[in-house]
Formats: sequence, C-alpha cells, structure tokens
Amino acid sequence: MTAATELAQIKERLNAATPGPWAAYAGCIRQDRSWRDASHVVVDYDGERPSIPNAVFIAAAPVDVARLTRAVEGVLGLHQPITVYEYDDTNGTFTQDGEGEQIEMKTLCAACTGDSVLELIGDCEYDDTDYHDETAWPCPTVAAIENALNPKEGQ
Ligand SMILES: [Zn+2]
Repeated sequence: MTAATELAQIKERLNAATPGPWAAYAGCIRQDRSWRDASHVVVDYDGERPSIPNAVFIAAAPVDVARLTRAVEGVLGLHQPITVYEYDDTNGTFTQDGEGEQIEMKTLCAACTGDSVLELIGDCEYDDTDYHDETAWPCPTVAAIENALNPKEGQ
C-alpha cells in the first residue's frame, strides 16, 4: 500500500465520521452542538442511532495519528534551517557585533538550497549575492506543514 493510499483511507474515515472539532470534558463529549455523556461517542448527530463511521474512525485513530505524526516528523526532519553568518575574508574570521556575537546574514533551508550554495557556505565564500539556488527559511514545505498544523485565523 502506498502512502497516498494510506492517506486516502485515513481521510475517508475522517470524512465519514461526525465532523469535528470534537471535545471531551468531565466524562462528556461534544461532537456537534451539544454535550452528551461520553458513552454516546458512537451515536450519530441526533444521538439516536449507533454511528459505525464514528466507531471505525475512533478505532483507527491511534494508528492513523501515529502514522501521520511519523510522516510529518520525517518531512520536518529533512528540512532543517542553516544560518549563514557574515564572514570577514581579510581576517579569516566570522564578523562579530559590539557584543561579540556573530552577525547572521540569513537563514536558509538546508534541504531546499542547492549543493553549490551549501558548498559556498561551507567554504565561507557565501557573499549574500542573490543566489538563484537558495531557499529562505522556512521553505515552502515547512511553511505548508506549519500552516496546516497552526492555521492562522480564517484558514
Ligand atoms: Zn525545505
């Protein structure tokens, strides 16, 4: 089974269950507008009939959440920031500010930035030219994950 197939099945279970967000508090659960005893978690909207899609969704949730978490962590683990510091060629040292701290030029995504730029950084030859093969941090991949997990209001 491919990751795309797994994701499609997880989304199918999610879409078949009562729409969220759900909330639980003090032995009660809210799946729509009203709070009910948590034992009613697998009833449909009107609270009258058992909801098999809700039961299937809940039963699959631990595995689904674990898989999705691993997938997102794997992607985030590949995309890491790399900070570029100002380098003084004449002295052969990193430039420092008045407080003795190295001066940050910019932060890039190490995975999305091209090898030629990473090589310049590693060789202390990066000169803040607008390289076409560099990607600022956060890169579009990390930004998409951040926006999905922490959506700004209205999204
Ligand atoms: Zn990236």
